[in-house]
Amino acid sequence: MADCHHCGTTILFGGRAIDGARYCGTACAARHPLLARAELVPEHVLQKHVDIWHRSACPRCNRPGPIDVYRHHRVHSFVLLTRWHTRQSVCCRRCGRRSQIASALYSAALGWWGLPWGLVVTPVQVGRNLVAAFRAASAAPSEPLRRLVRLQLAQQTLAPPRPE
Ligand SMILES: [Zn+2]
Ligand SMILES: [Zn+2]
Repeated sequence: MADCHHCGTTILFGGRAIDGARYCGTACAARHPLLARAELVPEHVLQKHVDIWHRSACPRCNRPGPIDVYRHHRVHSFVLLTRWHTRQSVCCRRCGRRSQIASALYSAALGWWGLPWGLVVTPVQVGRNLVAAFRAASAAPSEPLRRLVRLQLAQQTLAPPRPE
């Protein structure tokens, strides 16, 4: 199962692939020039900013870092309707874990009640949260954090000068 290269949404069906990057839909694929631009950020510039982000205090709980990108996955169902999504937040591991465990419980309680997707997607989302929550912490900034900082830097260089 792939995640959208731009927004992180899980792609179950369809989606679009550009240059090996997969997108959930047209809106996200349209962001591709930005992603292309992001690839041009020089490694030493990227590394410097990634380190600054990584060492920052957690924006949620204000405890000292490191902070990183943590994804959590939810699903809820109502009879024939099943909806699922993946969200990511930049926070400390403690806060990241808390969202992952909360999302596992949320999905386990609310995901099942739809046919057929509730039964299919719920174990997947619960599993993804639990795997992420109990994975060993890594000391180095993750690839998703590097990608996020890259995009941020590319966006700054693309942004038109503000009119005074
Ligand atoms: Zn997307
Ligand atoms: Zn925190």
